[in-house]
Amino acid sequence: MLNGQKRFISNGSIADYIQVYAREPGTKSHEGISLFLVPKDAPGFKVTHVETTTKLGLRASPTADLAFEDCRIPKENLIGKKGEGWDQAMRTLNSGRIGIAAGAVGVARAALEAASKYVQERKAFGRPIGDFQLVREMIAQSAVEIDAARLLTLRAAHLRDLGQDNTLEVSMAKLYGAQMAQRVTDWAVQVHGGYGFSGEFDVERYFRDARILGLYEGTNEIQKLIIAEHILGPSSKR
Ligand SMILES: Cc1cc2nc3c(=O)[nH]c(=O)nc-3n(C[C@H](O)[C@H](O)[C@H](O)COP(=O)(O)OP(=O)(O)OC[C@H]3O[C@@H](n4cnc5c(N)ncnc54)[C@H](O)[C@@H]3O)c2cc1C
Repeated sequence: MLNGQKRFISNGSIADYIQVYAREPGTKSHEGISLFLVPKDAPGFKVTHVETTTKLGLRASPTADLAFEDCRIPKENLIGKKGEGWDQAMRTLNSGRIGIAAGAVGVARAALEAASKYVQERKAFGRPIGDFQLVREMIAQSAVEIDAARLLTLRAAHLRDLGQDNTLEVSMAKLYGAQMAQRVTDWAVQVHGGYGFSGEFDVERYFRDARILGLYEGTNEIQKLIIAEHILGPSSKR
């Protein structure tokens, strides 16, 4: 029987099945967590709130709050073995974070393409603004950062293909990708001047969408903790 709530579940309101990590009462830390498959019509399962247009970005994906009240599911809906949920979650996150890193590269590429087009078309003081060195600097810096993020992502994915531990490389790719996408989409807005802020150009949406990348699937701070732990070992405050 599942009891509890979870906020902010991407597409939770339109999914037919939800994967739920739940803790057995009385257990602590990484132990006692199991993974279940919950069908949307399971008794006691409810979608309590759906957000679309009011959030900063990612408005094409509904973000749902879910509730479980004495929610009964058949025992064969346990995925894997009882108590293995922590390891399952970490493995899932290690894959999902590569997807986020790749998404960061994607939105940044779109922003750079839009910026490159705009600076060659828009004229100020009789010249395309792409002639001005400070504008060119934003384009050049964007290109370098996108490539660095792409290479970090490919390395993390390659290690996964080889079946090797890639936790450190995944966190590096996700952290850098999220930070890079925020910077690059910001520069894309900047070179568009007032039009970048206006909503008439896609870069405004790219800028808003990029903000989530450092928040979900483990915030930037969580990625830094993972990276530091690989370098320094576990924090003594644990
Ligand atoms: C649009 C959207 C979609 C989402 N989709 C999903 C989904 O599909 N599935 C899902 O499970 N979740 C989803 N989430 C939830 C998301 O993963 C969490 O919001 C995110 O992990 C941060 O957790 P929190 O909101 O509880 O923030 P908190 O944990 O309260 O963090 C607040 C701040 O404190 C910092 N912080 C917290 N702990 C530490 C620490 N130990 N050391 C240093 N700093 C720390 C954080 O980095 C952050 O800056 C989604 C969220 C959003 C907004």
